[in-house]
Amino acid sequence: MKSENDGAAGSREKARMTDKYCNICGEQLNTWDIRLSKTLAYKIPVCEECIL
Ligand SMILES: [Zn+2]
Repeated sequence: MKSENDGAAGSREKARMTDKYCNICGEQLNTWDIRLSKTLAYKIPVCEECIL
């Protein structure tokens, strides 16, 4: 029972929720969103949807 599917589509690395929120829509951000924001040199953290 290490890593059961919990319904989500099978992404290997699970993004963990952070205590940060998207500065555009207010959605709670996960580690992946943070990483994306950094990669794209966003000054404020935003969620994946708002990046796209
Ligand atoms: Zn957003």
